[in-house]
Amino acid sequence: ASAFESITQAPPDPILGVSEAFKADTSSDKLNLGVGAYRTEDIKPYVLDVVKKAEKLMLENGENKEYLPIEGLADFNKATVALLLGSDNKAVKDGRVATIQSLSGTGSLRLGAAFLARFYPGRTVFLSNPTWGNHKNIFADAGVEWKEYRYFNPATIGLDFEGMMADIEAAPNGSVIVLHGCAHNPTGIDPTPEQWSKIADLIEKKNHLPFFDVAYQGFASGSLDEDAASVRLFVERGFELLVAQSYSKNLGLYAERIGALNAVLPTADLATKVKSQLKRLARALYSNPPVHGARIVAYVVGNNDIFDEWKQEMAGMAGRIQAVRATLVEELKKRDTKGRDWSFITSQIGMFSFTGLKPAQVENMTKKWHVYMTKDGRISLAGLNKARAGYLADAMIDSFD
Ligand code: PLP
Repeated sequence: ASAFESITQAPPDPILGVSEAFKADTSSDKLNLGVGAYRTEDIKPYVLDVVKKAEKLMLENGENKEYLPIEGLADFNKATVALLLGSDNKAVKDGRVATIQSLSGTGSLRLGAAFLARFYPGRTVFLSNPTWGNHKNIFADAGVEWKEYRYFNPATIGLDFEGMMADIEAAPNGSVIVLHGCAHNPTGIDPTPEQWSKIADLIEKKNHLPFFDVAYQGFASGSLDEDAASVRLFVERGFELLVAQSYSKNLGLYAERIGALNAVLPTADLATKVKSQLKRLARALYSNPPVHGARIVAYVVGNNDIFDEWKQEMAGMAGRIQAVRATLVEELKKRDTKGRDWSFITSQIGMFSFTGLKPAQVENMTKKWHVYMTKDGRISLAGLNKARAGYLADAMIDSFD
């Protein structure tokens, strides 16, 4: 008999399971709008030119494969916090930010969750409803209780700002509030600058701890600075907070697992102590982070020409997605005999659109039209091109009607 006799089959991951189902479909019409990875206009994976250049430089310089320190590559840590908060940020200059290179967005969130479990015990983490599905796994597996705050209003396919504020107000003082820095996943709906400022007022009043998840910096608007405005507002206002960063999307480094956890603290002394404890947690979780992606980021950011080229490539990716959104709306309007308002597709930002398709309608999209997407009605526009927008519009109109 096995020690694991009583184990039952785990369900497939709701997001990554979509790709598995897509692969198994033999139809030539099939379209994968499930996973959030950028595709070119030919719907092919994309390695950024600046990444290839950085890799060439690395090879020329004969970089070795020695272990990194627990906190990661020093040049990367310097670059990543500067990208996030701005190159002459006061908190960074004052030494109030503890930055640890970690395993992309997921690993950085997980390290943050472990830190909260150990040093801020008994608190509840509030996640937006809906949110990226893995948030719940990450906090639950770290032993941190999570609850939800309202975020999406199905009636307007927009932000439920009153509901969000009411739930953050009702949360016990000193709770942790997870916020998507930009390009909210899955809805593609972000608060306006005025709303961010009201959210900050309320979080301050309630003495909550903000935990920002920044997985799409530069990918939402095409501008690194604009997409970091929410986090920078909170830091300027003097909040203590955590930020998880990912380079999966904006540098296309999905499989390199490169990101960081930043903790902004009131004093340099506390930042040093927090960093030492984050290192201790990381040592036990994975010992030290991988070097390849860290070097790529450090090379790209550290070289002015390559850095400028990256900004152009990022704007190009964001622009292609914006163009595909516009084409999809045109194609939907052409086919829609009911005169529905599709403008939410172009007002949502980032990779995703939350369509409002119900589970049975999503099933129709997949079973009849071979369009793969998550059950919550989210589509990734990164997996679409202008040539296939008409086909998707056919599928959507048929499924909605
Ligand atoms: N956070 C959000 C909101 C995301 O959408 C993602 C990726 O889809 C991540 C974090 C983390 O991704 P990764 O672990 O690949 O950096």
